[in-house]
Parts: sequence; structure tokens; C-alpha cells
Amino acid sequence: MRYISTRGQAPALNFEDVLLAGLASDGGLYVPENLPRFTQEEIASWAGLPYHELAFRVMRPFVAGSIADADFKKILEATYGVFAHSAVAPLRQLDGNEWVLELFHGPTLAFKDFALQLLGRLLDHVLSKRGERVVIMGATSGDTGSAAIEGCKACEHVDIFIMHPHNRVSEVQRRQMTTILGENIHNIAIEGNFDDCQEMVKASFADQGFLKGTRLVAVNSINWARIMAQIVYYFHAALQLGGPARSVTFSVPTGNFGDIFAGYLARNMGLPISQLIVATNRNDILHRFMSGNQYVKGDLHPTLSPSMDIMVSSNFERLLFDLHGRNGAAIAGLMDTFKQGGGFSVEDDRWTEARKLFDSLAVNDEQTCETIAEVYKTCGELLDPHTAIGVRAARECRRSLAVPMVTLGTAHPVKFPEAVEKAGVGQSPALPAHLTDLFQREERCTVLANDLKAVQQFVAAHGNRGKPL
Ligand SMILES: *Cc1c(COP(=O)(O)O)cnc(C)c1O
Repeated sequence: MRYISTRGQAPALNFEDVLLAGLASDGGLYVPENLPRFTQEEIASWAGLPYHELAFRVMRPFVAGSIADADFKKILEATYGVFAHSAVAPLRQLDGNEWVLELFHGPTLAFKDFALQLLGRLLDHVLSKRGERVVIMGATSGDTGSAAIEGCKACEHVDIFIMHPHNRVSEVQRRQMTTILGENIHNIAIEGNFDDCQEMVKASFADQGFLKGTRLVAVNSINWARIMAQIVYYFHAALQLGGPARSVTFSVPTGNFGDIFAGYLARNMGLPISQLIVATNRNDILHRFMSGNQYVKGDLHPTLSPSMDIMVSSNFERLLFDLHGRNGAAIAGLMDTFKQGGGFSVEDDRWTEARKLFDSLAVNDEQTCETIAEVYKTCGELLDPHTAIGVRAARECRRSLAVPMVTLGTAHPVKFPEAVEKAGVGQSPALPAHLTDLFQREERCTVLANDLKAVQQFVAAHGNRGKPL
């Protein structure tokens, strides 16, 4: 399988190189040159497979030529073996034909584990074959950092540095990062905000001299392997609800358009999905595009669903590429306009094409709490605020009551106690068994000034399992 850039100017890469690449050299994002397509018979024959075996069948074409079948099978079995629920991604029924797909049974209680548990293992496999080591640098406002650290903690060939804004992440989120101890794990609390952390990652990618030749790898949601891993659970859910003989619809709480883009790919690979709902919070750039064909940057609003607090939706470029007949020059032009602060609309027929599949809704904090309370009252399920936004959008936007509607349950409610409290259900969610001692565990973290040079010196001094590079 070869991968090409959405801006058309970077060299095509194989899977192994895409895994290590991050952004393409022309500023674009990598996508498969040709998407695999499965027949209905083939998909139907996967019914009842354990999650890791289904994952092997769905993802095999994407890694073909880079990872041997036997190795890939072993990696997938280990990846999904760490989940705390034997079904890995169980479906829970909310109403007659309405479901939540629980994606929070991984080690850090959010759906990012599906991709980052796999990414860490894939990286280690490829790097041991090559005899190379890499450094990962990432910025997090919460969920991504812990999932990335959990995914890389067993990697022999990876040192990971995760920056979070000092005193600005919740205690559960901080402890999920700082209590994972290992020579190759480095938590840095920056005396600044999330944007400061992200800027330092960006600057480090642009100028890598301080790494003394060690390769820097990105684990943010633009990494292709993360999207790839998220395609699987759409197949998994549909197969349990009568697919592919019957079509299914999904509502997806999203900020960066990563998770829902995976659903779009599942459909293009042959899975009958008749509607995809983009569910956002008040940071609604995606909703403004889907409802009014305006892709314009807004201000950042902090909400009760912080994992979707974004101004720009980085993976949206991948959908735009398809909507423009995969014309890289057109995308480079649009992104240029956008970068200059312009925002843009696409031609009517392209927008109409997108709207055949996608609907959208922006849900504010008050409505989020209302939905948490309502669902708790009618079926006893406690939703996290991101999932609640998905359920709200599912109910308001669904086109047919006859087609099963699945909302992606992106996090466990215990990660976001503030929203659950505000919803006033009189119940606070408990930590699952494997995390009950989280508040007693030893923490390890270094506080650094908001200073690029200081951070880079720290990475250079500890980037080889705690020793200098
Ligand atoms: C990251 C995250 C999201 C948004 O994911 P996208 O990649 O932007 O689609 C939603 N909910 C939770 C809990 C998250 O951690």
C-alpha cells in the first residue's frame, strides 16, 4: 500500500515510512493512494470474530508490504488484549433502536487507546527491525498524553516526552500520565497554557538540531495509523447490528474530525453506513461547515467537553481532498487561504455531496448536562460529556428511526466529573478496578519554564532512556 499527500507535492510513502512521518513535507496529510474495498459477502463472513481478528482483516491491506501477517496478528492480539472488557468495544442499548458503542475500556478510559496502544507496538516493531530509536514529543490538554504514554511505556526503541500545561489539567488526567513510571517516559509540566506546549512541539519539528540525528515522531491525531485503527470499530458495531445486510448510522463526538473520518473510510471500504452525524460542542467549526458551507476559524471557548475544544479541525483536510477529486493543488490553495485568516466555502456541488452522508449539530454545556441527566433518568446509564453531545446530536439529526443509530462513547464519565456533577444526577462515577489506587500512586514529573531552549535541553539530556542522546 502506498500513501500520498493531500497537497500533492510530497513523495509517496509506504506504510512503514508513513508511520514515522507525521505531516508530509508539503504540509499535507497522508492518505492511502487506493482505499481497499470489501464485498458484502466478505464483510458478512467476519460476523462473530473476536475484535483482534476482525482488526486483522480490516487493516491488513493498509500495512501490506510493510508488516508480515504473522507479526501483525501477534501485535493486534497483544494490543486489544489489554482492554478491560472481553468484547473490547461493547454496545450498550439506550432505547429501541439506539446504542452507545463503549470505546472506554482501554487503559486510559478513552477511545484514543484503540489507536495509541496499536501505534506504540507498531513503532517498536518497525524500529527494532531497523535498529533505530526515536523520540516522541507531544502536547496534551489531557486525553492524548495519557493514551500515548500508556501506548509507548513498553517500547524498547521509543522515548516519549509529553508536555501538559502546569496545574491546568484535571487531577485524574494528570495522574494518568505521571504515575506511569519508566526510564523512557518523561512528563513535563510547562508553566504556560496548552497552546504554549503545542507551539514548542511544532518548533521542535521545524528545527531538530537538538536531537543530534535522532528522529522525532508525532503521535497527534494526524498520524495515519491512528485513523486506520479507528476504522475497525465501525465494522465491529455494524456486524453486531445486522450489517452488512442492513445499514447502520453513527453519531460521533468530534473536534479534529479524526474519529468520524474513520467512519467515512469504513463506508467507502464497503460497509453500509447511511448517515454520519458530526457532533461538536460550542467550538463548532465543523458544524458551521456542514450546516452552512463556511469553514472559518472562530474563538476558542473552554467547555465541559475539553477534548473537543479546538479552533481548527486538522483531519478535515483529508475529507476536503476527496471532495475535490483528490486534487492536491486545490487543497494547497484552500489551506493557504485559510492560513491567511480567510476561511472558505467549497463549490455547491461538493458541499451537497458531503451533505448526502453528513449531518451535524453543535451542543452547548447546558444541553450537554441536560442530556446526561435525561439518559441517566431513562436508562440508568451515566454518560461522559463528549458522549452526551453525541447522543444529543443523534436524537436531533437522525433521518430514520428504522435504521440502528450508534453513538460513539468516547470516554468513561469518571474522567470528567465536573460535567457529571453539574448534570445533578446525584451519582458520581467510580474509578474502574485497575485504577482504584490512582490517587495513592507515585508521580513523576518535571516542571519547566515556558521556554523552548529549556525544553529542548531537557529532551537532549534524557532522550536515551533517561541518558543523553
Ligand atoms: C480526542 C477526543 C475526542 C475528539 O476526537 P477527534 O479525533 O477530534 O474526533 C472526543 N472525545 C474524547 C473523550 C476525546 O478524548
